[in-house]
Amino acid sequence: MTPMSKFLPEYWKNINQLTYDHNLISLGFILPRNADGDAALKQLEAAIKASQAKNTLNFKKITILRQDSNSLPSQAEQERHAFKVQKERRSMMALARNSLVFTALSPAHSWVLWLDADIVESPNTLIQDLASHNKPVVSANVYQRYKENGEDKIRPYDFNNWVESDDGLKIANSLAEDEIVVEGYAEMATYRPLMAHYYDSKGNANTEMPLDGVGGGSVLVKADVHRDGAMFPSFPFYHLIETEGFAKMAKRLGYSVFGLPNYLVYHYNE
Ligand code: GDP
Ligand code: MN
Repeated sequence: MTPMSKFLPEYWKNINQLTYDHNLISLGFILPRNADGDAALKQLEAAIKASQAKNTLNFKKITILRQDSNSLPSQAEQERHAFKVQKERRSMMALARNSLVFTALSPAHSWVLWLDADIVESPNTLIQDLASHNKPVVSANVYQRYKENGEDKIRPYDFNNWVESDDGLKIANSLAEDEIVVEGYAEMATYRPLMAHYYDSKGNANTEMPLDGVGGGSVLVKADVHRDGAMFPSFPFYHLIETEGFAKMAKRLGYSVFGLPNYLVYHYNE
């Protein structure tokens, strides 16, 4: 399941390279009703047609939805990451993710892989690798490639995979009912252990760590967790929202949430 405001050929190539039997995979997309969504839809449809023409399209089903809830106008990375827009933006994203899962999930599905449209590189065995952990929720570590003085490097990208801290709980306690804690902002120093910082290049890719918050970049969820009612709160849920609120909800339902610090997938570099 992929919320998509931008179509990246690298994303399409990456999911087409997944070695899990495509006949067992249904793809679900939800795109905003704005100019970005219009452009992404055209490109997604063109990519699907091109694959069809080459006879390489063998997914079981493809569902494409347009959002009937609000979305923000197109935003550069800097604007969309500004602290003050987080509640509105993440709340809209939550509604989009919920529409997608409520519409596209069928009784036959065992797993839901949430994969953002800007995850441009992952192991081809992503689904098998994550599913082999057999956890209700398991999140990969989202990194980003970049160049420094002509040298290829990687850096952490997604800070929404975290372990709750005393400071985080204290902040949450101090907030008004309708306020949220968002991770990764100096304005709100939670001192939460962030999975992004636990990557060990020499470590075992199967190392698991229990988490309290997850991001949506690349997270595998047992479909029953969603069927049981865990969704993406668009409202402050224990002062958490969207994917971070989802982890809290799953845990409140009795499910465990894990992350794989040494299992990397890569976010597009704008
Ligand atoms: P970031 O990586 O945390 O900056 O978040 P993104 O902006 O990349 O958003 C996460 C995912 O949601 C990506 O797959 C985006 O393409 C997608 N996305 C972003 N904004 C919207 C939106 O308004 N509506 C929908 N349906 N998807 C969106
Ligand atoms: Mn992104």
